[in-house]
Amino acid sequence: MRAVDIIIKKRDKQELTSQEIEFFIKGFTNGEIPDYQASSFAMAVLLNGMTPFETADLTLAMARSGQVLDLSKVVDIAVDKHSSGGVGDKTSISVMPMVAACGLPVGKMSGRGLGFSGGTLDKLESIPGYRVDLTTDEFKQQLKEKGIVLTGQSLDLAPADGKMYALRDVTGTVPSMPLIASSIMCKKIASGANAIVLDVKTGLGAFMQTLEEARELGNLMVDIGRLAGRKTVALLSDMNQPLGSAVGNSLEVIEAIELLRGRAPKDYYEHCLHVTAHVLLLGQRAKDLEEGRAMAQKSIDDGSALETFRVLVQAQGGDVSYVDDMSKYTRAKYVEVLNAPRSGFISQVHARIVGEASVVLGAGRAKKSDSVDHAVGFLIHKKVGDKVQAGEPLFEIHANDEAKIDRSAQGSTLGAQL
Ligand code: URA
Repeated sequence: MRAVDIIIKKRDKQELTSQEIEFFIKGFTNGEIPDYQASSFAMAVLLNGMTPFETADLTLAMARSGQVLDLSKVVDIAVDKHSSGGVGDKTSISVMPMVAACGLPVGKMSGRGLGFSGGTLDKLESIPGYRVDLTTDEFKQQLKEKGIVLTGQSLDLAPADGKMYALRDVTGTVPSMPLIASSIMCKKIASGANAIVLDVKTGLGAFMQTLEEARELGNLMVDIGRLAGRKTVALLSDMNQPLGSAVGNSLEVIEAIELLRGRAPKDYYEHCLHVTAHVLLLGQRAKDLEEGRAMAQKSIDDGSALETFRVLVQAQGGDVSYVDDMSKYTRAKYVEVLNAPRSGFISQVHARIVGEASVVLGAGRAKKSDSVDHAVGFLIHKKVGDKVQAGEPLFEIHANDEAKIDRSAQGSTLGAQL
């Protein structure tokens, strides 16, 4: 078998066999197939698609490119949740402690930001000392002892995806249904999850812009999960406007912690209750969604979710005082408030424009090697449907570089429409 023949076959819109996909992924993982052939393969898949069988084969080949964790001796049911990516989506940071506080152990390997879409690891690193590089053994031990882990993907899990993901980011091959589905699901399968709640975002600030595309992606991932013997459900959630108020790493961590104190924007609060209820149901901790929701609410009301977050931060070496004292987070040097030019109702807060403007401020990366600025971002005070009076604050820009305020203000003013 030759890599070039597999690329040609996909270029010519033919269906690949399991053996061909396995050969390609194995060769790419061990370095025998170079990046330029893998990039060309990714582009052929983006342009010509894959059948559900090919996508399942690709997922399993990538999952098996490294270690596949078996958590059966660690927890009864290994639950996981995964978002397909969005703007202001700090859901995992609140939901994980809520789930664990309800007595369902939960361990998750998260990712970094990708383009305009933020990443949980970048956000959590706003807490000094917080380690996102736990080894597989540390992951298992913490899950068993503390019932909660939130870390990065260890290098020995699905290494083919790590390599492919980096290539896709710089070769224009991110927005491909089979590539996204296989990338997400291979990590879930490799990390030992046997009950998976997928939060598929749809809208202007999501990789899937239309509801139809998001539904197709959700169905595809659910089918792959089932094929691999994992209980999987997919939720479809709106990503036309950013979730909650905060966009930017430490601003989002603060908002996620405030939620655990019962103080959060309505849309974000509601979303976290909903996702937690689904995780509790799939993890057999709640008998139905109503009970799951009530348990989630109780974990906030009685302070157990916040306490569980303290346990998590401490276990991973973070400074726990950052859970209780929001004034400790490094703040941006400049905070510019943009007021409404006239009275009216907000008709749109364009999530992608806000996400891209936050990358301009430094909250995300323009290239893989860039570091992120944890302090910068936006606080959005008015959301779609809100009534505003002329002169009322619409949003705040938090910046460390004065010159970038104008650029992001121009961008984000386009984003908010009255
Ligand atoms: N999240 C992933 O893990 N992979 C993708 O391709 C897109 C979102």
